[in-house]
Amino acid sequence: MYKKFLILSIFILSGTFAQAENLHDTIQGAVRSLIEDNEMLAKLKPPEHFKTFYDIQNPRVTMLLCSDSRVQVDNFSHGAENDIFVARNIGNQYVTTQGSIEYGVNVLKTPVLAIIGHSHCGAVKAAMGDFGQLAEPIQKELQTLDVKSAADEKAGVVLNVHHQVDLALADYKEKVDSGQLAIIGAVYDFRNDYGYGNGRLIIVNLNGKTDPQEIQKSGYFKDLKNVAIGVTKGKEPKE
Ligand SMILES: [Zn+2]
Repeated sequence: MYKKFLILSIFILSGTFAQAENLHDTIQGAVRSLIEDNEMLAKLKPPEHFKTFYDIQNPRVTMLLCSDSRVQVDNFSHGAENDIFVARNIGNQYVTTQGSIEYGVNVLKTPVLAIIGHSHCGAVKAAMGDFGQLAEPIQKELQTLDVKSAADEKAGVVLNVHHQVDLALADYKEKVDSGQLAIIGAVYDFRNDYGYGNGRLIIVNLNGKTDPQEIQKSGYFKDLKNVAIGVTKGKEPKE
């Protein structure tokens, strides 16, 4: 009996050690790749490249993005360095990141504020349902999403972008009205849920306007042949 217990204990303990070792390896792998990738990427750029922004940053766009790892700034820029000032959180919410946005818009004076949601957003999905079982800090952030009335997840993502743009507009109306700032609401569609193609950025809101024709009237997109503006109801995803 004792022998059996001993063998069982050794078996369980060795399993636990193996698990801990696996976890240690996983962490080591993740840490190493950060260091190695950084080293490799830093070598690609000469010191002169960094010297151009040693003392000052001069971005053109303040961007509010969801933290989702499938959504990255390099989907919107070949050179985001010193060009995109980014604030991120789950569900690309305006309220919990207001200070960062204020810094981008009024201190760095970027002429564009882009608020970008994305297809299959877990935060939007959670906020559409009952999220009372989630950890309190997460609940606090989800409470700022107003998407319960959305018919489905796709509509919820767009509705959330509209809501966040409205919140920003309330603070920056004067700048928008005087033409110093454009607030763009968009959806990054890595799944082709909205039918424009995988990985496309779809403009759904400009300064509170949601009608594609009204958005086009701004003239900001006039020379862009393939720009995706608006979420059309009947548009089916292309495979
Ligand atoms: Zn998301």
